[in-house]
Amino acid sequence: MSDRNQPISGNDLARFSGPNTFMRLPQANGLDDLDVAILGVPMDIGTSWRSGTRFGPKQIRSESAMIRPYNLQTGAAPFDSLQVADIGDLAINTFSLSESIRIISESYDQILSHDVIPVALGGDHSITLPILRAIARKHGPVALVHVDAHADVNDEMFGMRETHGTVFRRAWEEGLIIPEKVYQIGLRGTGYAATDFTEAQGWGFQMFLAPELWHKSLSNLGAEIRRDIGDRPAYVTYDIDSLDPAYAPGTGTPEIGGLTTPQALELIRALRGLNIVGCDLVEVSPPYDPSGNTALTAANLVYELLCVLPGVSYR
Ligand code: MN
Ligand code: MN
Repeated sequence: MSDRNQPISGNDLARFSGPNTFMRLPQANGLDDLDVAILGVPMDIGTSWRSGTRFGPKQIRSESAMIRPYNLQTGAAPFDSLQVADIGDLAINTFSLSESIRIISESYDQILSHDVIPVALGGDHSITLPILRAIARKHGPVALVHVDAHADVNDEMFGMRETHGTVFRRAWEEGLIIPEKVYQIGLRGTGYAATDFTEAQGWGFQMFLAPELWHKSLSNLGAEIRRDIGDRPAYVTYDIDSLDPAYAPGTGTPEIGGLTTPQALELIRALRGLNIVGCDLVEVSPPYDPSGNTALTAANLVYELLCVLPGVSYR
């Protein structure tokens, strides 16, 4: 057994008890000696349709109590080699989106002053812009694997430039990402104009629309993206609405005809070897998730992301 932090076993303490940390890992107050810091960003004031993602981190943590440490299917044993802890939630200002965005960015600067990989539980997708600002201050422009039903490249929403639908246009404008190393996977649905997607393709973004991916394994696509990114620092942002609402109904802006849970697993598992410097899982809205399946799926996808971080050992 590793001397690193371990999730509490369901054979030692009933799964329905214990701390509400991710996988019932220890809660850490400091970042010294951590390889991976899991944190919540409980915010939904950047959304345009249904709210509720402020409850996302709490519910993802709750459903994560079911997950066991060893990945039987890939052989990954993340807690053998990585020191992982839950560092709690960021103290966002629920009355101010702009103030929350500033708080997230400054909090990430502080987190990234340590040699740690931050894994964020959202929260709506607007959290990813301030995260990328801090990530780029540390690592320079990064490659971006963006799994989503939506491209999130609007210019403004109600005159607001920082919302969950404008993140990746701002990230492109601000030079936070390497445009030709941006991969948007699972896009679909209705739009406002035929140019909704083509403009960002002109910046260099590579788009993989859901209908092109229907009925196919995503293992090859994931492996091609991993090779194309090479050793560059990469950020993975996972919007749960990339999945079909049949799998993930509990989200703010659902779109039919989405990816399946097996496709999500194939995609993430194929990213093994990528130089991931941070990731997030966003847009889980528990009030629209009566079965808990969306949060359960999100918790497992976060676990799968842990399983492909740099330095994970395999048995
Ligand atoms: Mn999104
Ligand atoms: Mn989306």
